[in-house]
Amino acid sequence: MDRICGKCGTNNPKATLSATEACQACRAVYAKVEQHLQATADKARAAGEAQQIAAAKAGEKRRAEAERAAQNQAAAGRRQEQSLNQSLICKTCGTAGETKGAVKGSTGVELILWLLALTVIGIPFALVYSVWRGSTKHKVCRACRSADLIPVGTPIGQQLYVAVQRRA
Ligand SMILES: [Zn+2]
Ligand SMILES: [Zn+2]
Repeated sequence: MDRICGKCGTNNPKATLSATEACQACRAVYAKVEQHLQATADKARAAGEAQQIAAAKAGEKRRAEAERAAQNQAAAGRRQEQSLNQSLICKTCGTAGETKGAVKGSTGVELILWLLALTVIGIPFALVYSVWRGSTKHKVCRACRSADLIPVGTPIGQQLYVAVQRRA
């Protein structure tokens, strides 16, 4: 019966197929060579499978990370847009974003009224003036101090914002 040696490739047409039979050319025992070849193949297959699993895991991780990054970016964009929509834009000069606080009236007049109050006549006037000034607190443009501010989120504000961005 034919038996091909796994080590040297020589065919033995008169093989008996006994467990301890050896190749006549290289003297290797057939069963041992086959066992060795089998073990090597098994090891290679296991290594290949492990590699495939590792590659799949790495790919999955990369995908998850990319997805997370995209989500974060989208959230940041939404936040930015939201805060922009809530911020004000100056109708006079087109400056958007931070505003300044301002009150009407004059600090000088207020000071004089309070100085008068310290002498005799002024107390009610000073008080009324101060209270009135406090009630006129409003936002003004940080660039031109105009009080003509509208939210960027409104249609006109949006139009103005786009126009200013284009000009810049
Ligand atoms: Zn052989
Ligand atoms: Zn302005």
